[in-house]
Amino acid sequence: MSILIYAESSSEGKFKKVAFELASYAKKVAESLNTTVTALTINNSNTAELSKYGVDKVLKISNDKLNNFTARAFADVVKQAAAKENAKLVLLSSTTDSLYMAPLVAIGLNAGFASNVVGLPVNMSPFQVKRNAFSNKAFAITELETEIKVLSLAKNSYGLVENSSSLTEEDFTPTLSEADFGIKVENVEKTTGKVTIADAEVVVSGGRGLKGPENWGMLEELASVLGAATACSKPVSDLGWRPHSEHVGQTGKPVATNLYIAVGISGAIQHIAGINSSKVKVVINSDPEAPFFKVADYGIVGDAFEIVPKLTQKLREFKANS
Ligand code: FAD
Repeated sequence: MSILIYAESSSEGKFKKVAFELASYAKKVAESLNTTVTALTINNSNTAELSKYGVDKVLKISNDKLNNFTARAFADVVKQAAAKENAKLVLLSSTTDSLYMAPLVAIGLNAGFASNVVGLPVNMSPFQVKRNAFSNKAFAITELETEIKVLSLAKNSYGLVENSSSLTEEDFTPTLSEADFGIKVENVEKTTGKVTIADAEVVVSGGRGLKGPENWGMLEELASVLGAATACSKPVSDLGWRPHSEHVGQTGKPVATNLYIAVGISGAIQHIAGINSSKVKVVINSDPEAPFFKVADYGIVGDAFEIVPKLTQKLREFKANS
């Protein structure tokens, strides 16, 4: 038996960061189970990159029908790969795509499924994992009693751990039927060519305190110096100041970055729910009583219009001198 991971690729055929994190995690679990890690890849020709993170074998699928994600087809493919490898542990990332298909994979394999897993299994027998619960405000220990187990790993909960391996590759041709493609993706519109929130290590986020869309230039400058993605609070996207794809929070995208810089955002519970998993939170707000300061690692009380340009300037100087 081996561990199977689904190593997700972007539409450009490059691995997403979560694929390497999942491989790192799988390798550590495999070591304690004395087994190997097989990665399933779809339409990605850079599979050698996975050897840096401890993957032993790659099952490579090349099929134009799988260029766009459809939950049923992808779940079917993961299911067939798991059966072929006799995998008892199937690992997915907690991305939108994987979370869509995870229940289908679990049903197909008659497996138990635990989402949002953080950290290594707490116990191997019985098999118990720690998961984020209540919008990341608590943890739950979940026991899976089924023979096959499907887990989705919360983003940035384990990190990247290099662990080189000698990789073998095998082409894999799953059987796909018309029923797998009942839902067809007609068109995919890219929101931006910049760093996306999902892949970013750093996110610079703005709230209503920025007063209007015309003031986003200074956040974009800060983001560009840091190689960060930009994000916003819900009212900002509701007002049309920023695209909905940037809205983070309970009803928006979850953000689990290394650094989250919140500018002019009050820190309402619904916003915090989406960014709780970020490692370091920096808050810039003119109101010392803003709730966001309670969860901040670093707080700056002051006017964003003074602080942000100065911060950007200092970072530019730092980069130039280092
Ligand atoms: P405000 O609350 O108006 O705060 C603006 C902040 O900017 C204030 O703290 C102010 O002190 C500060 N400020 C003002 N001027 C300056 C300045 N010059 N310099 C620095 N700081 C300044 N919200 C989300 O973000 N994401 C969600 O997913 C989400 N989901 C929701 C779901 C439900 C069911 C509900 C009811 C609400 C949801 N909300 C969500 C809305 C949430 O409750 C808040 O209303 C929202 O987060 C507030 O946005 P904000 O902080 O940008 O604006």
